[in-house]
Amino acid sequence: MEPLRVHITAYGCQMNRLDATLADDLLRAAGARVVDDPASANVLVFLTCSVRAHAEDRAFSNIGALAERKTREPGLVIGLVGCTAQQYGPEVWQRAPLVDFICAPGRLADLSDLVREARAGRRSIALDPARGKEEPEAFGESDARLDAVEVRGRHRVGRSRQAFVRAMRGCDMFCSYCVVPNVRGPERSRSPAAVAEEVQRLVDRGVREVTLLGQAINRYRFDQPGRAWDLADLLEKVAGTPGLARLRFITSHPKAMTARLASAFRDVPLLCPHLHMPAQSGSDAVLERMNRGYTAAEYAQRVAMVREAAPQVAVASDFIVGFPGETGEDFEATLDLVRRMRFASGFVFKYSPRPGTRAARRYPDDVPQKEKVRRHRELLDLLGEIAAQDNQAFIGREMTVLVEGPAPRPWLNARAGQTCRPNGAVALPANPPGFVPKNRDYSGAGQSAISGRRGDRNLPAIALRSLGEAGATAGPQWRGRTPCHRLVVFDGPAGLAGEEVRVRVERAGPITLFATLFQSTI
Ligand code: SF4
Repeated sequence: MEPLRVHITAYGCQMNRLDATLADDLLRAAGARVVDDPASANVLVFLTCSVRAHAEDRAFSNIGALAERKTREPGLVIGLVGCTAQQYGPEVWQRAPLVDFICAPGRLADLSDLVREARAGRRSIALDPARGKEEPEAFGESDARLDAVEVRGRHRVGRSRQAFVRAMRGCDMFCSYCVVPNVRGPERSRSPAAVAEEVQRLVDRGVREVTLLGQAINRYRFDQPGRAWDLADLLEKVAGTPGLARLRFITSHPKAMTARLASAFRDVPLLCPHLHMPAQSGSDAVLERMNRGYTAAEYAQRVAMVREAAPQVAVASDFIVGFPGETGEDFEATLDLVRRMRFASGFVFKYSPRPGTRAARRYPDDVPQKEKVRRHRELLDLLGEIAAQDNQAFIGREMTVLVEGPAPRPWLNARAGQTCRPNGAVALPANPPGFVPKNRDYSGAGQSAISGRRGDRNLPAIALRSLGEAGATAGPQWRGRTPCHRLVVFDGPAGLAGEEVRVRVERAGPITLFATLFQSTI
């Protein structure tokens, strides 16, 4: 049989990105080569997301587009993994008959068996228990197998030396628009020992920054005889990992934000001052229909509590516009909340009903698409405007940046008349001197980020110095993050990925700070 060559496509959230790294590790351990080019793979794994119709549709349409290739290459294996797999189960085969195996997110440990079956010509499926009365215990066996994979099976460390580590699985919040509690099951917190062991193993392999993941991570709770752990306890323990430089956590639910966790930003030295706490709406009526469990005033109070404990914390939020019944007045309340909170960054999504959710069952999707698009744009504009204003305060400041990799749009930062490729080579002018590129999405985070459409497009092309005037010629352009998670772009020498460097900010856009490197170990 041909050697295994696998390509993995992941859609959606950080959980899926983490699952993609686990799938990568698992399949490598089974002897596969993981390839970047899907055309050279004989196994295609689609890691799907069910949270928004758009991501799901993209996955199914990309699978459908493989029909001709599957006829040409009958041995080609196609796997559908993740939330969509659990959401639809065997019904996936009605919509996507080309799929050979279906694997729920909690059954990733079965992935190589599923691939083996498919290569032997047998369709197979591995699902989590349906969400029901049995609750967390029903997930015990598959969680234990996943824990073993997560703690001991993770071998690869990316160039950025950042890693996600799961602190919790599942969700019990049942926001009315969301499928996650059904597809990822009830909340289960991993033991502090398992999380700490995984972090230590990753740091031993070179990881510098760890982000703990959970759908509502501030609900973390692990009971041991004589001790109940919350997220603040877990952060303190993980921050003690020798060699770890930065620690983050996402995503926080406003209802579960406590004064104790707020003070962790002040008291845990490695904890980065960045809080992702989605508000979703500024209208109490909409929040109630969303089943979010707080009012706009309570949300504002939680933010104030965090800022009082640690004023340097950058607060980021998510919003859904066009939720059923959202009036113009409701939307104004969201704009008002944004003006008052002055978020450092934000994502905006247009509501789409998801099968199996309470919102889809109870509330007609009654905000016209055109109006959703208008509100989406207006909110992005406001978020961008505020971030652009607040980012001016960084100009002239020296900051520490963990370098993630080459800048995705190096030309944005280039001198007029030059473009700088990710490999560091300065290319011949691709555009006439003085051309100002119309930046569309500089964050790499999708068009819903504040960078989308209205991001940094109005910034002039900038001539930045790198390592002083003398070094300003042909270095690569790098992208990195400050502890407060702001994106920084700067010129620098080769080999900076994964390094912490010091930069001085020269210029600021809504999401990007443009800087000069003045200190690195390279
Ligand atoms: S907190 Fe709400 S939006 Fe987030 S995963 Fe849970 S149910 Fe979904």
